[in-house]
Amino acid sequence: MKSAFEAAQQYFDEAATVMDLSHSMRDLLVTPEREIKVQVPIKRDNGEIATFIGYRMQHNSARGPMKGGLRYHHEVNADEVLALASLMTWKTAVVDIPYGGAKGGISVNTKDLSLDELERLTRRFVDEIHDLFGPDKDIPAPDMGTNAQTMAWIMNQYEKFHGFAPACVTGKPVELYGAEGREEATGRGVGTLTLALLRKFGRSIESSTVAIQGFGNVGTFTAAYLHKAGGKVIAISDVSGAILNRMGIDIQAALDWVGEKKSLTGFPGGERITNEELLALDVDVLIPAALGNVLTEDNAKDVRAKYIVEAANGPTTPEADAIFRKREIPVLPDILANAGGVTVSYFEWVQNQQYFRWDLSRVREELERTMTRSFDKIWSIANEKKVPLRTAAYLVGIGRVSRATVLGGI
Ligand code: NAD
Repeated sequence: MKSAFEAAQQYFDEAATVMDLSHSMRDLLVTPEREIKVQVPIKRDNGEIATFIGYRMQHNSARGPMKGGLRYHHEVNADEVLALASLMTWKTAVVDIPYGGAKGGISVNTKDLSLDELERLTRRFVDEIHDLFGPDKDIPAPDMGTNAQTMAWIMNQYEKFHGFAPACVTGKPVELYGAEGREEATGRGVGTLTLALLRKFGRSIESSTVAIQGFGNVGTFTAAYLHKAGGKVIAISDVSGAILNRMGIDIQAALDWVGEKKSLTGFPGGERITNEELLALDVDVLIPAALGNVLTEDNAKDVRAKYIVEAANGPTTPEADAIFRKREIPVLPDILANAGGVTVSYFEWVQNQQYFRWDLSRVREELERTMTRSFDKIWSIANEKKVPLRTAAYLVGIGRVSRATVLGGI
């Protein structure tokens, strides 16, 4: 299997070839502006010292301050963070918000640390990199394993060095300069575009079945949105395994269960199946919303979904993508499908910069407008150039970044 960075590079190259991008521009756009790797030592609750590695990869700032999540996961490594940083560059350009792309992470299993230890880890990471990010440089946000609390610690620690600066990070708690609607934004965006995609194929959500892998931030809000829109979500899953109910899962009951037990284990609303079986279910829409590289050349032939909507980052390997193209299964790519989170992060940053708060209905309206406009653009480019949606999204993203680079000069 290709590394995450090689996979991102392959998608980039494909679009760069279609648009006849020069080799010198390709070199410039692929090369990250800055790679940060730091030691993050903390004192454990038992007095021992534990040492972690933290990354912040700043890929491109041609269109504005760099933007991207911070991931706490034991599989975090430089290659993956770099690939995700480049995805952010194309993603912010696809939805046309004035940002570049970055990503960060710490290689850590959050379940091994207490809340106090996680706070010390986060603050120590900020101590190491606080000069290299900030409201006009690079703005972190939550990703796997991090949440609004993590962002509040980051803001608080950053302000010890730089003074009041709520715009240094997004995805903060609403009580602390966060935006209404940020938590639901990625899932809401995925839901909005799932409906838009179905409409283009003359289908309705009411007559569609859905399977969702991952029941964390993105998976839960996607499930709730599609359920409310009239869709039948027949399978959901988390790291413990999957649940199948062909009559449709009671999403509120699943949310209540996970809210209390922190896992789908024991949830009585359906039969137990594996995550692999979920991916192969005969559904209309399959939504991977957990990890990268879950749809591979080994299982792509078993997928029976009619459409795939990439809520996670990089869930489809290039080999699997080629199989889906051959099988004519449309894939709505991550850099468009899950851009709702960064879009509302941008709204949060705007509000912080202006000291002015929007209400939830304005956030939702602007999110829907941004997502729908971006989807329509990618859809028409895909039809015009006769390329898959992924290539169309890269064409738009790379085109905007390269034009900004040429206009700004080096
Ligand atoms: P999260 O940590 O809140 O949830 C992740 C979910 O995936 C959990 O339910 C977890 O149990 C499940 N999971 C983990 N390993 C699994 C496995 N091996 N098999 C099946 N399920 C597994 O994370 P999230 O914020 O929901 O992010 C999910 C994906 O969406 C990631 O790829 C992330 O990069 C992407 N994403 C998130 C946002 C955001 O705003 N949170 C924005 C854009 C993209």
